[in-house]
Amino acid sequence: ALTPDHPLLRGLNPEQLAAVTLPPQHALVLAGAGSGKTRVLTTRIAWLLATGQVGPGGILAVTFTNKAAREMLARLTALLPLNVRGMWVGTFHGLCHRLLRAHHATVGLPATFQILDMQDQLGAIKRLLKGLGIDEERLAPKELQGFINGAKEDGLRPRDLAPRDPDARLKIELYQRYEEQCQREGVVDFGELMLRSYELLRDHRPLRQHYQRRFRHILVDEFQDTNRLQYAWLKLLAGEVEDGRFVPCGNAVMAVGDDDQSIYAFRGARVGNMADFVREFGIEAPIKLERNYRSVGHILRAANHLIEHNRQRLGKSLRPQRGEGEPVRVIELPSDFEEARWVVEEIGQLLRDGVPAREIAVLYRSNAQSRALEGALFQAGVPYRVWGGLRFFERAEIKHALAYLRLLDNPRDDTSFLRVVNFPPRGIGARTLEQLQQAAREAGCALADAVTLVGGRGGAALTAFVARLDVMRERCAGLTLGDIVRTVLDDSGLLAHYRAERDGAERIENLEELVAAAHAFVQQEGLGEAAADPDGLTVSPLVAFLTHAALESGDHQAQAGQDAVQLMTVHAAKGLEFDAVFITGLEEGLFPHENSLTAHDGLEEERRLMYVAITRARQRLTLTWAQTRMLHGSTRYHIPSRFLDELPADSLQWLSPPRGRGAGWGVPQPAWGRSALGQGDDARPAALAGLPPAAVATPEAPVSAAGAAIRAGMTVFHPKFGEGQVLAVEGRGADARAHVHFRRHGPKWLALAVARLTPVE
Ligand code: ATP
Ligand code: MG
Repeated sequence: ALTPDHPLLRGLNPEQLAAVTLPPQHALVLAGAGSGKTRVLTTRIAWLLATGQVGPGGILAVTFTNKAAREMLARLTALLPLNVRGMWVGTFHGLCHRLLRAHHATVGLPATFQILDMQDQLGAIKRLLKGLGIDEERLAPKELQGFINGAKEDGLRPRDLAPRDPDARLKIELYQRYEEQCQREGVVDFGELMLRSYELLRDHRPLRQHYQRRFRHILVDEFQDTNRLQYAWLKLLAGEVEDGRFVPCGNAVMAVGDDDQSIYAFRGARVGNMADFVREFGIEAPIKLERNYRSVGHILRAANHLIEHNRQRLGKSLRPQRGEGEPVRVIELPSDFEEARWVVEEIGQLLRDGVPAREIAVLYRSNAQSRALEGALFQAGVPYRVWGGLRFFERAEIKHALAYLRLLDNPRDDTSFLRVVNFPPRGIGARTLEQLQQAAREAGCALADAVTLVGGRGGAALTAFVARLDVMRERCAGLTLGDIVRTVLDDSGLLAHYRAERDGAERIENLEELVAAAHAFVQQEGLGEAAADPDGLTVSPLVAFLTHAALESGDHQAQAGQDAVQLMTVHAAKGLEFDAVFITGLEEGLFPHENSLTAHDGLEEERRLMYVAITRARQRLTLTWAQTRMLHGSTRYHIPSRFLDELPADSLQWLSPPRGRGAGWGVPQPAWGRSALGQGDDARPAALAGLPPAAVATPEAPVSAAGAAIRAGMTVFHPKFGEGQVLAVEGRGADARAHVHFRRHGPKWLALAVARLTPVE
């Protein structure tokens, strides 16, 4: 047996040690941010392996991102001399994909099935609607996409849905057609990965029992963000339903999570899974970890104080294990532009102080906010990396190259076919393609098989395209992955096309990077000729690479290893930690997001997001907000986020004069209205000294139907809605609108030309 002073266990506190060395049984670790949940999970796997209780093949571990899975594997290999290839560590999607690859025939998928990302899926849906002659006005493709994905997340097939009205009937019918189309083309979307593998386990008892016996230990990180279907999937691996009751089957499930960090409700995450897990798996008491090893005292106190404003909590406490550190700094800036510039200056100072760039993170609520920050970083010559945003694999030129690669493997992939049949342009017109699709529909076959059915010059061009693909396929046979990609770029004409384009240089660079990524992929994954894992599962390196491209969510590796400042949304920062963190855009309407104010539990979810954001910081935390911000093409005037009011004053250091929203729902302080407009405001933030006053001035304020000038920050009265506070004013003249948060009626947009708003003194 291993004693607690074994290097594997050294440094764990008693509660952590108990969790790591728990005898095989179901357990829930319920603990706050930075308390070592992920560390406990990883160390437990190492401990189970080191004590010989289980081999690598007996472990199933679920992480929230691919990056987290890689980190877990890296840490394990550092702790133990192991071959981790047989170990199942990944996201739910990654693990489901692995199951489907192993049992594709059982679920009726071709061996070469490919994954549709959200963008491909939308394309496939548009194509479906067009083929059926359904106008986008009648049904927006995005709406149908949301409907289909929502149904799949709930584990529902078209036949499980009951039409309530003609609208619903149409959607269900289209869901059915969409499934048929995907099946014909040999592609699956993200939701399908999860649902199909759920059905695989549910409907095939021997197979289910095989995996139940195999995975002796199932470990799940970030359990609070699992959805219904994911929890049901876990249950299939961990027990049987007998007489309507769930009976665990003898393996051990350890879930770790934090209800205060549940931030994916909009994608179906269900905190209630925690309570169900405790009940259904017969857990006596959740294990609690109460020491926070990540953040200094001031930061931790800010987080604790904030989250106490939420009502729906299981209740946990966290004690700091590190010094007090520096207080949390807060600054008000006149515009998003100035905010970005200020943050970049501060980053410069941190870098000069010797903080590594990768230890600095800038977080924001919405992706759109990254643009100003990127601009400022670029200008200052600071290397940075944006997570999320447009992923490498989503760029047009990369999608084109991937489409050719997919067609090598699966000529029936109609989505890919249509993407490149006339790219680079080869004179195949829209009419020819309509004819082709019509012919394929009638013959019930793939587009590639229908080309001979189209006559004339168009038909000849289509046949030539398919022949070209065949030649490409032959030329690639036996080549390494990197060489396949290179060959496809040349033979498809993609490289030549972009070379001839005026601003094709960046696209060519990206395509070259794709070749490099393919080479690196083979090395990293240790793929030789074929990717075999101990399950006897074999896929070609090309299929493995294409899968990687589809599943990789924002973790673009091409710049990995480069020391760069990290930019990401708060959602993407979950589970991560950095020495210094900037949370930007702390404004009402932005963070908390305006959509949250009307949603059920919306504000509490936003507060949990803020809690996640704060708890990413180890030593330094800085909060910024801007009075004006360019969003979707117009300038909006903002007031500071209510979350700033919910932080403990004695852990804050204001770099500009403090501006709370005041008490309660937010009666603005008298000084506020002036400062937002920068008129006669002598208390401008010290950091802004030297800026021309124009930077904080506003254009003329629009006038309401009652004849009063309306400005952001004002308290106003409306004859119907009563008293409210102006959050933002947009547009000019007849188009001017105000976003007003009414005390009784919540936020509303009002056209000033008709709204009888009067200022309240
Ligand atoms: P989150 O909720 O944000 O995912 P977490 O609970 O998973 O956080 P970890 O990321 O596992 O927390 O740990 C936070 C930090 O504390 C890590 O840097 C980890 O190495 C460190 N840590 C955890 N336990 C200890 C310990 N006993 N001694 C020293 N450092 C520790
Ligand atoms: Mg964690």
